[in-house]
Amino acid sequence: MTTRRVAVVGAGISGVAAALALRSHGIDVTVLDRGHRLGGRMATRTLRGTGLPYDGRVVDIGAAYLTVSDPAFRTVVDSWAARGLVREWTDTFHVSSPDGPQGVVTGPMRYAAPAGLRSLVEDLAADLPVVVNPHEVESVDRVPDGAEVDGERYDAVVLAMPGPQAADLLAADDPAAAVLNAQHWDPVLTVVAAYDEQCWHEFDAMFVNDSAVLAFVADDGRRRGDQAPVLVAHSGAVLAAGHLDEPASASGALLEALEHAVGATAKPTWFDVRRWSLAKPRRQEPSGFAFDGVVGLCGDVWGDGPRVEAAWRSGNELGGVVAARLA
Ligand SMILES: Cc1cc2nc3c(=O)[nH]c(=O)nc-3n(C[C@H](O)[C@H](O)[C@H](O)COP(=O)(O)OP(=O)(O)OC[C@H]3O[C@@H](n4cnc5c(N)ncnc54)[C@H](O)[C@@H]3O)c2cc1C
Repeated sequence: MTTRRVAVVGAGISGVAAALALRSHGIDVTVLDRGHRLGGRMATRTLRGTGLPYDGRVVDIGAAYLTVSDPAFRTVVDSWAARGLVREWTDTFHVSSPDGPQGVVTGPMRYAAPAGLRSLVEDLAADLPVVVNPHEVESVDRVPDGAEVDGERYDAVVLAMPGPQAADLLAADDPAAAVLNAQHWDPVLTVVAAYDEQCWHEFDAMFVNDSAVLAFVADDGRRRGDQAPVLVAHSGAVLAAGHLDEPASASGALLEALEHAVGATAKPTWFDVRRWSLAKPRRQEPSGFAFDGVVGLCGDVWGDGPRVEAAWRSGNELGGVVAARLA
């Protein structure tokens, strides 16, 4: 029997999990991503030109941490932990509002990565054929018994990305496009603020309630374990929606709210604002993935929450189902 070929478009954690599941069933898989590097929203940037002693250090600018409840994902996280790729960060977050500190809240253990969360996706994908930048996929067309990805034929294709991005690849009347176009995604702005030294009371991370500007702040030095005085803050969706064309224009409001939330006594030496146009789905799809025999859909909108673990599980399950169908 000829080897079946599947294209996975999107090398975030869901696409990489799908590709690994497909390959474990003997499928010839190719992963395509338009990013300069893989990892998607598990994104890490390197500080450059800050003039600070820790210039060259990486910072997590997308997902802030991961949590684990699924036993299969636990196996993956245990493997990362055994090799020092993830570390237990904290189960206790501070809470604040514009009126001031509101105490702490305890939840599940949050895991962070000393080399940044992107390093975890890179580890999973180490032996996969991943084609990154400039591989922006432009079209996925159905053909008899398969699909063409930018004219290249495959037996099936997995679209592992936010719904609106996946819909752009399909014909307007494609049955999968209707599901994807019904999804609504919220934007987020992320500000990275790097300081000469720590000038705030210790905390790991903070939920910011009732703020029109900020939603969440993490101490990246405590998160990643090197204690560098770097804060990363995520905005609310309304502020982000108003500044998508020019994220830097929100820096004043973001930095002021950040200073107030953490009680910082000095200004950052360096800062930058990054835009996530499609950061979080407003509603989850009820199933863990979708597959109609040719086009598969996975990612964090599929399953129980817009999180790293849900994205991994969605891709892993879809990969197994696609492989079984092609067998
Ligand atoms: C600001 C922010 C904070 C978050 N915080 C947390 C958190 O604390 N904990 C948590 O668990 N989760 C968090 N998340 C969510 C988490 O990042 C996601 O659930 C997870 O990374 C989604 O992975 P994915 O593979 O589904 O999608 P993505 O990571 O978005 O991957 C999609 C990939 O598809 C690629 N792509 C898109 N279109 C094309 C195309 N046409 N051609 C080729 N490639 C294409 C993109 O380049 C991208 O790499 C956060 C997300 C954001 C944005």
